[in-house]
Amino acid sequence: MDPTPFQNVPQTVSTGALPGWQRVDDLVHEAHDRYSVENAGTVADYIPVLAEVDPDLFGIAVIDVAGGVHDVGDALHAFSIQSISKMFIYALAIQEHGHAHVRDIVGVNNTGLPFNSLMALELNGGHPMNPMVNAGAIATTALVPGTTASEKWDSIREGLSAFAGRQLDLDDEVYRSESDTNDRNRAMGRLLVSYGRLHDDPDDVVDIYTRQCALSVTAHDLAVMGATLADGGVNPVTGERVVSADVCRDTLAVVASTGLYERSGEWLFEIGLPAKSGVAGGIVAVSPGKGAAAAFSPRLDNAGNSVRAQLAIGHLSRSLGLNLFASVPTDEESA
Ligand code: GLN
Repeated sequence: MDPTPFQNVPQTVSTGALPGWQRVDDLVHEAHDRYSVENAGTVADYIPVLAEVDPDLFGIAVIDVAGGVHDVGDALHAFSIQSISKMFIYALAIQEHGHAHVRDIVGVNNTGLPFNSLMALELNGGHPMNPMVNAGAIATTALVPGTTASEKWDSIREGLSAFAGRQLDLDDEVYRSESDTNDRNRAMGRLLVSYGRLHDDPDDVVDIYTRQCALSVTAHDLAVMGATLADGGVNPVTGERVVSADVCRDTLAVVASTGLYERSGEWLFEIGLPAKSGVAGGIVAVSPGKGAAAAFSPRLDNAGNSVRAQLAIGHLSRSLGLNLFASVPTDEESA
């Protein structure tokens, strides 16, 4: 990612809470104003219905761990969660089976290849390696609680709704559009079976995966979901414990190196936060102990990450002092 968009944004370093509410709100508005003129990228069209979206939509939401809310622009516009679901499904799977079991079955490394790569599976003897791209996510979906396909779908919908603090609904149009065109993901399901990595019916698992990707969310919802991972697994808006603090730590560690597909290294280098993107244009970034920033805008770079959402979150990471790797000597900080 090109660092020049942040050239005039001061690099703030913070190890405590977010700045006060008004300062955060000003910075969220500033990021929205600044990047709403950016028109690079193209809208995803391999899922036909996604191509019909208004490409100029742009929303940003920040939720802190005390439940403070900042919604700007199209923060309440609904879109499909797509790959961002992978982060929360992974959390539900490790909550159910434990960190080591899921690491052995699915892995925790970046494949370095596009999210829909079949070659990544072939190169690794059928081991998906990365739960944040399609093959690994399909294997992870099979691990959520439930013995039948319908029980698994219920636990996914209820689990993601608990993260969001409200009942999430399926976008039927997106689900049907992707179901009609997802031969590649079905092939991946069968390849996983052939390598002994998937033991359920692959068409059922891919169907649940397609549904999970079609859950309808807003940038505001994504920020609440991310803030739950930032708050040791307790939803800061509803007060409900959704997953354990250990699950949050493990999920964020995996997402830090995998969340933006083959651009994950560049993202971590420039922005310094675990974040997950999806092809409908959403990105959510999590700042452990502080909160989460989410943004939505449909134009994507060629890895499938929203251009404006990357810029908006990058701006907030710098200006709010969220980069996990940034520090200054303590005598300079107090001076
Ligand atoms: N449902 C999409 C797919 O399987 C999700 C991909 C994404 O958001 N990168 O292709």
